[in-house]
Amino acid sequence: MKNVAVIGAGTMGNGIAHTFAQSGFKVQLIDINEDSLKKGMETISRNLDRMVTKEKITEAEKTETINNITTTTDVSAGVKNVGLVVEAATENVDLKLKIFKQLDKECHDNTILATNTSSISITQIAAVTARPDKVIGMHFMNPVPIMKLVEIIRGYNTSDEVTNIIMKLSKTLGKVPTEVNDYPGFVANRILMPMINESIETLYNGVAGVQEIDTVMKLGMAHPMGPLQLADFIGLDVCLSILNVMYDGFKNPKYAPCPLLVNMVRAGKLGVKSGEGFYNYSESRKAEKVANQFV
Ligand code: NAD
Repeated sequence: MKNVAVIGAGTMGNGIAHTFAQSGFKVQLIDINEDSLKKGMETISRNLDRMVTKEKITEAEKTETINNITTTTDVSAGVKNVGLVVEAATENVDLKLKIFKQLDKECHDNTILATNTSSISITQIAAVTARPDKVIGMHFMNPVPIMKLVEIIRGYNTSDEVTNIIMKLSKTLGKVPTEVNDYPGFVANRILMPMINESIETLYNGVAGVQEIDTVMKLGMAHPMGPLQLADFIGLDVCLSILNVMYDGFKNPKYAPCPLLVNMVRAGKLGVKSGEGFYNYSESRKAEKVANQFV
């Protein structure tokens, strides 16, 4: 399995393409938006430059990695000859179901279809295909080239064989795959999102300010960044969507999104990607500086 396709060239898609390409895979990076592909390749190039500067890779390895990636807006052509597709398009259930129906039609019968969804049911996605045994969750963490964890989510019908292939493949990417079952939020977000939501609730209740809440969690709990800053990095719209999936899935009020989070998303304050969330990132140098802490 040396040929893979990645659907979506946004925050996660470009990181996933980068990671596969750096491990010697030939990657078709697919997006409906030409501009996203351009920006995605620019991000990959910038992140590789940083690795060269830090002497983690050589200039030749950077060139090889870039040369391993081909971009296209044509899904059918992009997925024709690949053994694996990793879908990392926008977190929207109807969109993912549509993409998987198309992938099932266009891909070879043996192609494994993985999704990087943060919260949508793998079993539900698999059910729109004729190959539910070959559909699996491959939940990479942001920033993908740096973070070691891949949460591997088995849908109700995912086969042992496919799970083993994906566990092994993740190790060849230098990652630590961890197998979990398919329930709302899986493990990572089931634990992380209530913490982020509670931090927002703490701010909403006026217990402390943004800086103070993040400082308590950074210095008191040894977290590398505070939960409000982390929410800005993930995207407040993504956090809201994951909390809603858990709220609907468990029918439990403990997952109800804080009204302040709902209001901020309605107001377009989505975090780093919109220039403002709990912090202000409008000066691009400031955002770059924060991003540099992680990559
Ligand atoms: P993003 O908004 O940065 O990028 C999404 C990309 O998908 C965009 O470039 C968009 O043009 C493209 N797209 C939309 N419809 C498409 C289609 N039909 N075909 C091809 N491309 C299409 O989103 P993101 O943050 O990269 O999230 C992608 C996925 O990864 C989501 O499922 C999200 O839940 C998950 N995820 C996100 C994070 C995070 O920290 N942001 C972490 C783990 C998982």
